[in-house]
Amino acid sequence: MYILVNGEYKKRDEVAIDLEDRGHQFGDGVYEVIRVYDGAFFAMKEHMERFIRSAEEIKIDLPYTIGELTGQLEELLRLNKTEDGGIYMQVTRGAAARKHLFPGKDTRPELTAYPIPCSKPAKEQEVGISLSLLEDVRWLRCDIKSLNLLGNVLAKQEAHDRGAYEALLHRSGMITEGSSSNFYGVKNGSVFTHPANNLILNGVTRMKVEELCRQNGIEFLEERLSTEGLVSLDEAFITSTTSEVIPVIKVDEGKIGEGIPGPVTRKLQKLFDELIAKETKV
Ligand code: PLP
Repeated sequence: MYILVNGEYKKRDEVAIDLEDRGHQFGDGVYEVIRVYDGAFFAMKEHMERFIRSAEEIKIDLPYTIGELTGQLEELLRLNKTEDGGIYMQVTRGAAARKHLFPGKDTRPELTAYPIPCSKPAKEQEVGISLSLLEDVRWLRCDIKSLNLLGNVLAKQEAHDRGAYEALLHRSGMITEGSSSNFYGVKNGSVFTHPANNLILNGVTRMKVEELCRQNGIEFLEERLSTEGLVSLDEAFITSTTSEVIPVIKVDEGKIGEGIPGPVTRKLQKLFDELIAKETKV
């Protein structure tokens, strides 16, 4: 496997990350996961723009333009002959003596990227999943795709231990998102989801779903849902780069709607599949 390290392509055993890399010690960095279908990147532009924005928000100066970085990732795909899967990319503030203050200008950000296995969660997409409701105890800049994922990791594990596929996070009874996904409710044919503000990550899949709704006459409303309102939803679903669109049929012991995937979710799954085929065809 080839790994992109600061513009160079190295073998796995040639990669050495410094003990005092700030990603390792502080989680001081940002990342992206980009899906690859049929040897082509899906939604590359959106992922790149979000990556640049996340880096800017935490004041990391990326030494590459979007064009240069896109070229490097394309070369990485080619070298690894990746057909179906994903690319994980991260940048940290670099290596320096362990102090909270930013290091000096001579410290270079550490950018790495490599292929990861990724396949459609076909069973979950077909039958639907259950979620477990948990308090959102993360920080107030969830719009940054930060390497600091402890709140997300603990929530995902807790949901898993309770037998659920994903966590459904709420702040004081208002639903935000999943631990690694966005959440949507459907009522009377309209899709409701948390506004894209500092309390959620504006998912690339969320952007695509919004676009699909608008193009196909499905009302897309950025309105918060409450935990109490879950019982009155007709349908629910989650989205992410790796999950795509997955129906939610249960939250803890409570059924969503009829307890089976609903028609609006099914329609969006179909539209999303068509979009992948359209955008990744060569
Ligand atoms: N929300 C959180 C907290 C996430 O970690 C992710 C993805 O990892 C998402 C939402 C979905 O984002 P995307 O559709 O860009 O994968």
